[in-house]
Amino acid sequence: MNHNRLLESAKSHSSQTKGGLLWKCWKELSDLARHNRVVLLWVPGHSGIKGDEKADELARKGSSASYIGPEPAVGVSKTMVRSQVKEWVNAQHKEYWNNITRHQHGKIFIRESSAKLTRELLTLSRNKLRIIAGLLTGHCALKAHLIRMGLYNGDPNCRLCGRGAESAYHILCECEALDHRRQTVYGRPSMSPAEYSAHPAAGLYRLVQGSRVLESVL
Ligand SMILES: [Zn+2]
Repeated sequence: MNHNRLLESAKSHSSQTKGGLLWKCWKELSDLARHNRVVLLWVPGHSGIKGDEKADELARKGSSASYIGPEPAVGVSKTMVRSQVKEWVNAQHKEYWNNITRHQHGKIFIRESSAKLTRELLTLSRNKLRIIAGLLTGHCALKAHLIRMGLYNGDPNCRLCGRGAESAYHILCECEALDHRRQTVYGRPSMSPAEYSAHPAAGLYRLVQGSRVLESVL
């Protein structure tokens, strides 16, 4: 194969990888060939041929030098970046939630960050979301929270059963006045925080929907 054919072959291949090393080689050789006789030859490697030894030496030098150019040097797909960022955010979120010492009530009902729970909550109406988030975090218009906030100083007992402080924990796990509703919604009269976690959050709304605990005591 003469050098013109080889050059043509390199040119045709490099057209598929424009900007690549082969393209640059082809261009350099073409420039050289304008005023010189250029011959492309296959030579055996590591056999003492001067040009080949020089090429090896330059290649070694190039590979040991630090990379110069736009980062990242090795292309990474958007999907990979997205999944790595997501993984990192989830790990940070989990660590934050596990280490936080406040929100005792919330940590009992939301044991760890859950993409499933997030997805479900984001499909709910604002009103349902407000009520469910209030029950899960304890930050709602139940008497215990209003007393803690200094907004209410009347009878602290549950307005449904009258037995125990009206907290979100009481409403969800202790209030006997809601036994029948729990039975209807969850198929059992009493539920533990862990059992609530295993069910869709929308059940919490159904548990208190239309009951007096959603009315204001202020
Ligand atoms: Zn009660």
